[in-house]
Amino acid sequence: GSARDLVEKLCAPVPDFPLPGIIFRDLTPVFADAAAFRTVIDALIEPFQGTFDVVAGIEARGFLLAAAVGYAAGTGVVTVRKAGKLPRAVHSEAYDLEYGQATLEIHRDAVTPGTRVLLLDDVLATGGTLAAAARLFERGDAEVVGCGVVLELEALAGRGLLPGRRVHALSTL
Ligand code: 5GP
Repeated sequence: GSARDLVEKLCAPVPDFPLPGIIFRDLTPVFADAAAFRTVIDALIEPFQGTFDVVAGIEARGFLLAAAVGYAAGTGVVTVRKAGKLPRAVHSEAYDLEYGQATLEIHRDAVTPGTRVLLLDDVLATGGTLAAAARLFERGDAEVVGCGVVLELEALAGRGLLPGRRVHALSTL
C-alpha cells in the first residue's frame, strides 16, 4: 500500500494522552511494521532526493526516521536534542509546544555554512518544534531545504509557523 494508506491503517489514536481532551496519535505501530517502515522511509526521501547533505532528526521519534533516511540516502545524520543532552557547545532555541514549553539544541559544529539540511519528525502539530529546529540550523548558516513528517495534524495549522518552507507530510488528519 501507499505510505498514506499504511499510516492511516496502523496509526493508533490514544484519547486523553498526555492530557485530558487530547487525542495522541501513536505512530509506533507504523515503525514496528516492516513494510510500513520501509515505505515511510522511502516516501520521506522521495520529494527531497538529491537536495540535502545531512538529515536531522528531532528527539526522540525523529531519530528513528533520520537514521533510516540517512542510511538509505547516503547522508550523515544530525541529532536535534532536548536541552542539556549534548556534551559540547550548542545552539539553543526555546519554543512553545502543544502542551507546555521546551528547548531544542544542536551542536554548533554539527553543520558548516551552506550545509543543506532535511528536518524530520514523526508528527507536525502546532509547528513549534520544527520551526525551532529550523532556526537552530539557520543560526549555523546552514540551509534548511525542507521538513518531512509522517503525519500532519491539520487542525493545529502548524504550517503557519513554517512560512516559506517546503513541508512534506505523508498523511494528514
Ligand atoms: P508541535 O511542536 O508541532 O506542536 O508538536 C510536534 C512535536 O510533538 C513532535 O516532536 C511530535 O513528536 C510531538 N507530538 C505532538 N502531538 C503528537 C501526537 O499526537 N502524536 C505524536 N506521535 N507526537 C506528537
